Amino acid sequence: MTAEVERAELSLTGWGSTESAHELPNAARKWLRREIGWTPRTTPAEALASVTTAATRLPDTSSAALIDIVGADHVQTDGPSRLRRGAGRSYLDLIRRRGGDVTGLPDAVVMPGSHSEVLAVLARCATDDIAVIPFGGGTSVVGGLAGGAGEHRAVISLDVARLNTIGSIDAKSLLVTAGPGLRGPEFDTRMARYGLTLGHFPQSYEFATLGGYAATRSAGQASTGYGRFNELVAGLRLATPIGSWLVGRPPASAAGPDLLGLVLGSEGVFGVITELSLRVRPAPEAKHYEGWSFRSLPRALEALRQLARGEVLPDIARLSDPDETRANLVMSASTKANALQALLRARGHGGGCLIIVGWEGDRDAIGVRRRAASALLRRCEGLRIGRSVGQSWLANRYSGPYVRDALLDVGLLVETLETAASWSDLSDVYETTREALTASLSTEGKKPLVMCHVSHVYPTGASLYFTIIADRNDDRPLQQWLLAKRAATDALLSMGGVLTHHHAVGIDHAPWLAREIGDLGVAVLHAVKDRLDPTGICNPGVLFG
Ligand SMILES: Cc1cc2nc3c(=O)[nH]c(=O)nc-3n(C[C@H](O)[C@H](O)[C@H](O)COP(=O)(O)OP(=O)(O)OC[C@H]3O[C@@H](n4cnc5c(N)ncnc54)[C@H](O)[C@@H]3O)c2cc1C
Repeated sequence: MTAEVERAELSLTGWGSTESAHELPNAARKWLRREIGWTPRTTPAEALASVTTAATRLPDTSSAALIDIVGADHVQTDGPSRLRRGAGRSYLDLIRRRGGDVTGLPDAVVMPGSHSEVLAVLARCATDDIAVIPFGGGTSVVGGLAGGAGEHRAVISLDVARLNTIGSIDAKSLLVTAGPGLRGPEFDTRMARYGLTLGHFPQSYEFATLGGYAATRSAGQASTGYGRFNELVAGLRLATPIGSWLVGRPPASAAGPDLLGLVLGSEGVFGVITELSLRVRPAPEAKHYEGWSFRSLPRALEALRQLARGEVLPDIARLSDPDETRANLVMSASTKANALQALLRARGHGGGCLIIVGWEGDRDAIGVRRRAASALLRRCEGLRIGRSVGQSWLANRYSGPYVRDALLDVGLLVETLETAASWSDLSDVYETTREALTASLSTEGKKPLVMCHVSHVYPTGASLYFTIIADRNDDRPLQQWLLAKRAATDALLSMGGVLTHHHAVGIDHAPWLAREIGDLGVAVLHAVKDRLDPTGICNPGVLFG
């Protein structure tokens, strides 16, 4: 059963609509000019509504067959529908779109309403040699939706939006079955009625879907406490061109290797996830967020390591390096931020770094965990700066992509990249990646702002999430970023970082996959794909390149 969906859509050239547009404060503008040598200018996005899209290549016979399966209302070949599914939301996607490039669109959008309809669509596409790109929320930042038709005669976007129902809710076992097309807020609102939560809050929460999270092995802002999305999936149903596959048996099984783990992170190359069995937990009775300051990054990293080792990690532990701390304080341009900067300077913490820590759950348990963590943070020379910083972070946790739209409008390059490393390698990976990005993006009188935060902490190491702002090269914006990304990826891999901690591989990271999982690892994945998708129609180009 499906429910028809009426919901907010991402803008075609960014994240938010004109109503949600953010203004860059004057103080931030001045600071960026000084900091990176930016020349302010207006660089608005093309209005794509008037752009002509290429004619569909979907053969009439295939179109008729797909309409027979899902109904005429659910096969769309008009320009706007194809544009909406034709790209993710990486900097490269947005720069192409903003410049009016609408090549590489799917030839049609097909929206099945059930698992059996997905199976039938895949079988027909295999027969007709049509590639299929599963589409969730369209928030991929690694080109996961950009593989195109490959060698095939046409390509459809298989949008799972109509697979949006909640199946069973087993509150006793804390297991819920749900459709992959549900967005985070839609799922959480339903769960709240039963006093349950999933606890998955990526920055793309407003638009990304449950299926997309599973297909990319996403991590949310609270994953240190609640676990990564792959840990929240107890099982799933996969529709492949050769039939159905049900993987994962909660609570746990030792029946051979973990096949669920093989499908999680498969980015649509084995088929389409049509149902998920999710591990939920009771909604937290209380939440407590607060800020701490450290004089230097090494001290703050050591504090996080000790929290992990002492098994007193908060549910959220987010450490901004000195550049990100400074940028957040300056760019918010608020009186509170100015007062905080003054306080930090007065306490000898000017130029240091902030950590946001957060606990969720039973009120008494939070008290116990918070006291243990606070004692340790103090021993590591941390300075508690109170709840308002934590509350402010919580209130603004999804605003980043709206700010990015504003930065793109004024001639800036703004992009992120992420990795993870063991505690032993973390500092080297951090330094080397920063150096590579800075060297690649510096030109006469201009240098990039390279900021970083740690957002996920493990006993063995942590993630590093870099945000880069630089004056855009208006003549060669794509090459400017591609060179920097290549340099940074080579650098972080050479120092022991992972190719991606939570954004997945897509087409952007595919050239490096063998460096991380080995040629044999790639061959194993190919063998699985050949078995499940013998004609290679499922998301060609993604993961393997
Ligand atoms: C501003 C911004 C912030 C972000 N923040 C985070 C973050 O905090 N944490 C994080 O992990 N990621 C983040 N991301 C990346 C992105 O949101 C995640 O990768 C997310 O999991 C993608 O979900 P989606 O529904 O949008 O999938 P899509 O972008 O639609 O698809 C992603 C990939 O999965 C495949 N796919 C989608 N649905 C299915 C399905 N049902 N079956 C099989 N394959 C499928 C697609 O073919 C594609 O290859 C961010 C992205 C942006 C733009």
